[in-house]
Amino acid sequence: MNHFELRDGELHCEDVPLARIAEAVGTPVYVYSSATLERHFTVLRDALTGAGVRDPLIAYAVKANPNIAVIRTLARLGAGADVVSEGEVRRALAAGVPPERIVFSGVGKTEGEIAFALKAGVAEINVESEPELDLVNRVAQDLGVRAEIAIRVNPDVGAGGHDKISTGKADSKFGVSFSEAERLYAKASNLAGVRPVGVACHIGSQITDLAPMEEAFVKMRGLVQRLQSEGLRVERLDLGGGLGVPYFNQPEPPSPGDYAAMIARATSGLDVGLAFEPGRMIAANAGVLLSRVVHVHQRPDRRFLVLDAAMNDLLRPAMYDAYHDIRPVNPRGGEAQAYDVVGPVCETGDTFTRDRKLPPLARGDLVAFMTAGAYGAAMSSEYNSRPLVPEVLVKGGEFAVVRPRPSYDDMLARETPAPWL
Ligand SMILES: *Cc1c(COP(=O)(O)O)cnc(C)c1O
Repeated sequence: MNHFELRDGELHCEDVPLARIAEAVGTPVYVYSSATLERHFTVLRDALTGAGVRDPLIAYAVKANPNIAVIRTLARLGAGADVVSEGEVRRALAAGVPPERIVFSGVGKTEGEIAFALKAGVAEINVESEPELDLVNRVAQDLGVRAEIAIRVNPDVGAGGHDKISTGKADSKFGVSFSEAERLYAKASNLAGVRPVGVACHIGSQITDLAPMEEAFVKMRGLVQRLQSEGLRVERLDLGGGLGVPYFNQPEPPSPGDYAAMIARATSGLDVGLAFEPGRMIAANAGVLLSRVVHVHQRPDRRFLVLDAAMNDLLRPAMYDAYHDIRPVNPRGGEAQAYDVVGPVCETGDTFTRDRKLPPLARGDLVAFMTAGAYGAAMSSEYNSRPLVPEVLVKGGEFAVVRPRPSYDDMLARETPAPWL
């Protein structure tokens, strides 16, 4: 469910007509709904607690949508943060996430990033390899602290909506194998600079089938039980994110209730705290990318809808062949027509979709790419020297620009000519 709907023939975000935002801020622009963000978080939390999961740590995966206003909206409801870089630690802190609810993941954390996170007091560093374990141990000792760590395990289960977002197969770069995890956990418990508190996994993204998740989580339960039977303390099991969302051409994702029931089944009998790292399921349906039609270009065999948004603003179609529903903001009647929807960037890959049936559209009309709140603005760039796409957060009848569009002067002023030029 989300809060983008037609009212009086106009697409709204909550109580604000999208056309009003386009008028005030210009296009392209991302628009997020506070009510949808809040709803997704509370639905997940209530489903988990309803299924008997006590006090889950729901660490929102900041990379899905790192806007500070988005993180703060969730932090106010009690969300933690799953972060993958120093920049994301800083964002989570700036948004008011308490450090004891921050989990630091990622295969290549540098010495500087680890030191920053430890000084900030993050709850848990998810260690993804033996060299990283040794590095965290050394950095923590240098700082005179003991790092709480979890070992990230690769459960060797294939899942995820696209090869590029499947992370849980044995040949992917993430985490260690089960046998290595047992060895590293035992090793970590003898190191002076770390304290192992748990194990973690994250098997992929845009998962629409619970079966591979359950398979992975049952394997994780077995690991926790083996570690405990060896006399090791395990306090936390972090099950990652990955739950899919409806992009219209995909299988319906499982409901939060079914997901929570599966979690309860897969972890039954364990006496550990559970942590989750949802990104997409919180943010995707809470955002749209709003764009204006620049031209309708009719060729003998094809009709091109040329928009002012491009692949640099929304990379998912070019990167993952992703499907986004496209809706006119002020639909007028008339028979649907097939369009190739493209942006102005000088790449054939700058094609959002081909042969899409849409209601008749004309120059100046507004369209919204739905389900664009996750991995949308987060992956935007200034390719083709297009200023970074702005972001707007709506709450009820109000809206605020939470990342302004840089001016051309701002964009150019970031660069410094070499002294010899
Ligand atoms: C990307 C990522 C997530 C979030 O994945 P979603 O599919 O957006 O829920 C969670 N944990 C880790 C470690 C990740 O890399």
